[in-house]
Amino acid sequence: MRKSMIIGEPAIVERTSDIQSNTQQPAIWFVHEDVQDTDEPYIIPLLEDSFHQWVEESVPSSMLGTKILFDVSGRQLAIGGHHKPDNDQYDRLGQWVSTACETMECFQSDEVIIVPLKKRSSSQAFAALAWYGVSSNEWILEWLKTAALHYISIFYHRFEHVFVRDLMQQQQFLEKDASRRDKLYKATKRLHDQIDVSSVVGELLDIMEKCYPYAAFTLYLSQDFVDVDQRIKPLFIRNNANDLYEKAFLESKPNLEFLEDGTLQLGIPMSGKQAVYGVLGITMKREQWDESEIGAYVMLAGSAGSAFENAKLYEQSNLLIGELQLINELTQRLNQSLRLDEIFEFTTKELLHIFKADYCCVLQLNRKDNLFQVMSSNFPVLTADHVSIDFGYSGIVYQTKEPVIVSDYWSSRLVQSQMMESTRSRSLIATPIMANSELVGVIMVAHQSPHFFSYENYKLIQVLSTHIGLAISNASLHAEVRRMVITDNLTGLHVRHYLNEKIQSRQRKDRNGSLVLVDIDHFKKVNDTYGHQVGDQILIAVSEVIRSVIRESDIAARWGGEELAVYLPQIRSKQAYKIAERIRSRVEESTSPRVTVSCGLSEWTCEDEKISVESLFYRADMALYEAKNGGRNQIVVDERTDNGR
Ligand code: GH3
Ligand code: MG
Ligand code: MG
Repeated sequence: MRKSMIIGEPAIVERTSDIQSNTQQPAIWFVHEDVQDTDEPYIIPLLEDSFHQWVEESVPSSMLGTKILFDVSGRQLAIGGHHKPDNDQYDRLGQWVSTACETMECFQSDEVIIVPLKKRSSSQAFAALAWYGVSSNEWILEWLKTAALHYISIFYHRFEHVFVRDLMQQQQFLEKDASRRDKLYKATKRLHDQIDVSSVVGELLDIMEKCYPYAAFTLYLSQDFVDVDQRIKPLFIRNNANDLYEKAFLESKPNLEFLEDGTLQLGIPMSGKQAVYGVLGITMKREQWDESEIGAYVMLAGSAGSAFENAKLYEQSNLLIGELQLINELTQRLNQSLRLDEIFEFTTKELLHIFKADYCCVLQLNRKDNLFQVMSSNFPVLTADHVSIDFGYSGIVYQTKEPVIVSDYWSSRLVQSQMMESTRSRSLIATPIMANSELVGVIMVAHQSPHFFSYENYKLIQVLSTHIGLAISNASLHAEVRRMVITDNLTGLHVRHYLNEKIQSRQRKDRNGSLVLVDIDHFKKVNDTYGHQVGDQILIAVSEVIRSVIRESDIAARWGGEELAVYLPQIRSKQAYKIAERIRSRVEESTSPRVTVSCGLSEWTCEDEKISVESLFYRADMALYEAKNGGRNQIVVDERTDNGR
C-alpha cells in the first residue's frame, strides 16, 4: 500500500503537522504544498502522466515540433511527436536542459526551445519542457511559455490530487489500525476474564477464528490437558529440529514456514511469565499472509499464555484448598473411630469416592505369617483374602516402601496382580501405609480405564495414606490396650470382669448357658513342693487344656488365684458336663507334675425366675465345693441344675 503512494508517508506526516499549526487556512492548506527534493523518485510518474494529458489537451500543430519532457538533470522522461533527436542531439539537449533549470532561463536555438518549469513556491525548476524541431521567434517563445504554464497547472492539479489521496489512505490506515488495536484490547481483556484453563484456550481459538476467518488454528499444549475441543492437541517434543511447532516452543519465538502446496504455517509460542505452555499453530493460504499481523498473533498468544498461567495457578490453589479440606475431613472422621474394622471400611469408601476409582482394597500386613490380609474391599472376591508379601504390586510396595502408579496394566504387565486380573482393571495406584516408619499395609485403588489417575491423585493418596497409617496405628494401640485390659497376664485367658460382662450380655439375648468353675486340687501343695514357678507353669498348662477343649465362642477366664471359669453360651448342662469332663481328664493326663482339677457346673435358662451372673457363679461355686468334699478330681453339677432339668 505504502509503495504505491507517490509521496512518502513520513513527508505527509511532517507536512500535516506543519499545516495543522497553520490554523488560518485549514481547508486549502495543501495548495501551499510543493514538490520537495525527497519527492523526486515519486513524482516521475506524475510528471509523465501530466505530460500525456498536456499533449492531449494541446492544439495539435506540426509547426511546434516534438515535445519532450525532461527532469531537472536533463534526463528525458516523456516524448510526444515523431521527429526525435538522435543520441548526440539528446546529450546536447540534456546539457541545455540542466543549464536552463539552474539559471531558470529559457533556451533557444535553431532546433530547440527549452522552457524550465518553475515550482509554485520557489524560483527553482521541478522539470523542463523542450520543443524540438521548432524555429524560434519572439512570438513563439511567449506562446510556448504559456503552454508551459498550462503544463504546470495540470501537474499541480495532479500533485494536489495525489496528495489528498495519500492523506485519505493514511487516514484509512490509521482508522484500521485503531480498530485493530481496539479489537486486540477487547480480546486480551476477554482472555484475562477467564478463570479456568479450558476457557482460556477455547477463548483464544475463538478470538483467532473470528479475527482471521481465512486461517485455521490449532493449539498444541505441552501440559497434561484433557479437552473435548478438537482444536487442542498435545505438543510432542521429539527433538526434531524440523518440527515447526517444537522449534517455536523450544526457542520461544514465532516460527514461519512456506509449504509447497501454496500454504504457510506459523507457530506462535503461548508463553506466560514462568514458562511456555504451548504453541498456537496457524495455517493459511500464502496470498492471505500479511506480515504486519504477526505482532497481533504474538500479542494474543502471549496474553493467552499469561491468562493460562493465572488460571492454572488459580486452579492449583483451589485444588490445594480442596485437598486440604479433604485431608482435614478425612483425618477428623478417621480419628473419631478407634475400631480397626471401621477404619478400614471407611478408608475404602472414602478413597473410592475421592479418586472416583472403580475398586479399592486395603491390605494389612500380618508380620507373624508374612502375609498381607485384605481388610476391606468393594470387590467381594478379594475380601478376607490373603496375599503373600512378595506377590503383585503390594509385593513391590512392600519391598520398596514406595508408591507405584500403573497407567495401563494390560499393556505393561510388570508383575501379575490378582486384583487387576480379577477386576479387569487397567489403572492402579498402590501406596504403602506407614506407621512410625514401618510399613503396616498397602492401599490399592484401581480403575478399568487406562491412564485414569493423575499425578495429583498420586500425590494426594500418599498424603492420605499417612493419615490412614496414623489412624490404623492409633486403633491398633487402642486394641492392644483393650486386649491387655481384658486378658490375664499369666494364663492368657480373659479376666474376671470381662467374663462377667460377657455372661451378662449373653443372658440378655440367649435362652440358656452353662458355667464351669475349675479349681486345681491341692494346689498349695504343688507350690510348696515344686515352688511357685512350677505352680505357675501348671496354671498355664491347665489354661491351655481349657483353651484346647472349648470353641471360639466360649469364654474362658481366670476367676481367682488358681480358679478358672468357662462360660459356654447356649450349651445345656449335659453337654457342658462332657466338656468339663474332657477338661478334667486331659488335665489329669497331661500335666507334669500331675495335678487334678475339680469342677462345679451350673446352668441358667430363660425360664429361671431370677437370672443373674451372681446366682450362676454362686451355684457353680456350691457345686465345686461339693466336688472338693466329694474327694476332688470330679465334676459336680449344681443341685438345682441337676434336679430341675
Ligand atoms: P483345694 O483347692 O484342693 O482345696 O486345695 P488348694 O491347696 O488348692 O487350696 P486353695 O484353693 O485354698 O489354695 C489356693 C492356692 O493356690 C493358694 C495360692 O498359694 C495358690 N495360688 C493362687 N494363685 C497362684 C498363682 O498365680 N501361682 C501360684 N503358683 N500359686 C497360686
Ligand atoms: Mg485349689
Ligand atoms: Mg482355690
